[in-house]
Amino acid sequence: MKSPAKNYDPYENVVDVMEKAVEIGHINKSMFEIIKNPQRETKVYLPIEMDDGHVEVFEGYRVQHSNIRGPFKGGIRFHPDCNLNEVKALSVWMSLKCAVANIPYGGAKGGIKVDPSKLSKGELRRLTRRYTFAIAPIIGADTDIPAPDVNTNAQTMAWVLDTYSQLAGKPSPGVVTGKPVELGGSRGRNSATGRGVYFSTKFLLQEEGKDIKDASVAIQGMGNVGSNAARIFYHRDIKVVAVSDVSGGLYKKSGLDITDISDYLETKGNLLKDYNAPGVEHITNEELLTCECDVLIPAALENQITAEVAEKVKCSYIIEAANGPTSEAGDVVLENRGIPVIPDIFANCGGVIVSYFEWVQNIQELTWSRERVNEMLADLMSKAFMDILSVKKECDCTFRMAAYIVALRKLVYAEEIKGIFP
Ligand code: GLU
Repeated sequence: MKSPAKNYDPYENVVDVMEKAVEIGHINKSMFEIIKNPQRETKVYLPIEMDDGHVEVFEGYRVQHSNIRGPFKGGIRFHPDCNLNEVKALSVWMSLKCAVANIPYGGAKGGIKVDPSKLSKGELRRLTRRYTFAIAPIIGADTDIPAPDVNTNAQTMAWVLDTYSQLAGKPSPGVVTGKPVELGGSRGRNSATGRGVYFSTKFLLQEEGKDIKDASVAIQGMGNVGSNAARIFYHRDIKVVAVSDVSGGLYKKSGLDITDISDYLETKGNLLKDYNAPGVEHITNEELLTCECDVLIPAALENQITAEVAEKVKCSYIIEAANGPTSEAGDVVLENRGIPVIPDIFANCGGVIVSYFEWVQNIQELTWSRERVNEMLADLMSKAFMDILSVKKECDCTFRMAAYIVALRKLVYAEEIKGIFP
């Protein structure tokens, strides 16, 4: 899929959308001024000895947007286009997401500007450890809790956890979530975001009086979120007609065999462009976004559904599994075309909800069953969806506006009741 365009500024985008929500939701404007800006932006330079002996210096970031509702919380991404402004926007989305999901966290995000596919495992480990060392003074189980995001996973979190624990001189499992189950991770965390995407789709279609079983789904991105969502839809006999990764996409009108595709990606470690099966057509990422389907699920990067793409999409609904996949201009086109969008801050909140469950288990030194985790996830998401629906009716607005209003009201209320320090 294409990287976010150079002239697209995700932070400006999220501020514009928040400003609209402040108007529509009659939210206290002067308190909103506080929420608009992050509390702290950190930039670090990370010298790494590469395998061939030369030294490279990478740039890393951690933006802590808000801890008014609880400790800072949010993932760490590794991507060549990662930059401070992107991480800043992503940190705002985390605060909004945790508020919508009604979990006691603020928002943060981290990242390193790097193409991880070009690094060996040893180089990635050294980079992750050096980054953790650099941000160690500002993270911790009760201050700021990182997690996986784009191109990071349970292995990355194991390195973060170990580095932090070595520095602290004691095991500190609560400092990260999304870690391996053997190191205190939660059952159900790995598939949680994808599961939440499925719940979001189900709630929306129920609300529209439709049966999810009759829907066809197209998913852009086969990372953690896209691949788990595809698997969950497929196992519920819901037709997944298209999927894609960085190399391109696959389309089959009667539905793709997701088990075969996942096995192929896992065992062969290959790209989708090399996958072949009877009746499967190869398409580009642009063609995926505009293919014939009922539900389009962007599960990759920001700014994929621009105004131009929004004019061409043929789906009836969009579920934003990625953070910020629709530009503000794209959103206006979708609204005019009457295509409902379940916004990222709700659609992908399953990940951080189960991160919260993981952290609670760590603090209490308990482990919960997968069934309990999945049930509690469904329960929190269903309550959050009800809150969004009620504000949507009250303000007669889109799902995105309603979700932003729910979140901003909570953040502004917290600011008001606390008052300004000093
Ligand atoms: N990176 C995920 C997100 O964007 C999960 C964050 C977390 O679990 O803290 O929501």
